[in-house]
Amino acid sequence: MEVVSTKAGLRTLLDAVRADGRSVGLVPTMGALHAGHLSLITAAEAECDVVAVTIFVNPLQFAVGEDLDAYPRPIERDLELAARAGASVAFTPDTVEMYPRPTATTVHVEGLTSTMEGATRPSHFDGVTTVVTKLFTIAGPCRAYFGEKDFQQLSVVRRMVADLDQPVTVVGCPIVREDDGLALSSRNVYLSPEQRAAAPVLNRALRAGAALIEAGQRDPAAVVAVMGAILGSEPLAVLDYAEVLDPDSLLRPAALEPGRPARLLIAAGLGATRLLDNLGVLTP
Ligand code: AMP
Repeated sequence: MEVVSTKAGLRTLLDAVRADGRSVGLVPTMGALHAGHLSLITAAEAECDVVAVTIFVNPLQFAVGEDLDAYPRPIERDLELAARAGASVAFTPDTVEMYPRPTATTVHVEGLTSTMEGATRPSHFDGVTTVVTKLFTIAGPCRAYFGEKDFQQLSVVRRMVADLDQPVTVVGCPIVREDDGLALSSRNVYLSPEQRAAAPVLNRALRAGAALIEAGQRDPAAVVAVMGAILGSEPLAVLDYAEVLDPDSLLRPAALEPGRPARLLIAAGLGATRLLDNLGVLTP
């Protein structure tokens, strides 16, 4: 695996790949790689000739007081895992390389960013869309792999690519979970043993909501109430939001329509750690 830490280096390398008639798969990450990230690399490897994984903890998407400094950065281990999963390029810029001066330009997606993660973390998505646009501009035409774990982020990135005609095909990949249902996340390492034991409550709430819909419930508010109640039954967890939404618009429908997919989303705090999870369900 080739490790490149400059923007010019990555661009030259990937331009050469395309000039050779080979395709590029891009996997943007903040590192601290786990099996969720590796599943994106595996998916990219199956569909693209060359897979480039990017590892950059993007300060722009952290608010003051969030975990930017504490965010885990096990770079040697990441490089080993990425190579083993099938990446042939790793892009590991530092902050000065990515932002030689404070950015005066921000990419903002209206609407989709105002709720859920965007409501709790107001500048977060602008940081994501700005850095992802930079990565797409540096990497050039490619397929880019994102996890459904961050479902709202995936929707926002898809919309940005469509609106700005970015030469990128966005590919969404399923959530990888622990055996007890907890979605893998680089932030799970922050959990105390007690918090870790409580954390699968998010997934339990989602599954209970999905079961309700599958049993005939058509009122999203009733499903949200059950998800909230299950989350509330775990004393260590504090609900941020529970939602039942149309997966495309991210709006809550007045009633769930038979034959249409819905997305159940949940976020909760366990101590200082915020966890996210979501689940798709087809309304019968
Ligand atoms: P991050 O390093 O947290 O920015 O995540 C990088 C990419 O990995 C994003 O597209 C995430 O949605 C994806 N990802 C993170 N956790 C998982 C997971 N458990 N399953 C699938 N994809 C994931």
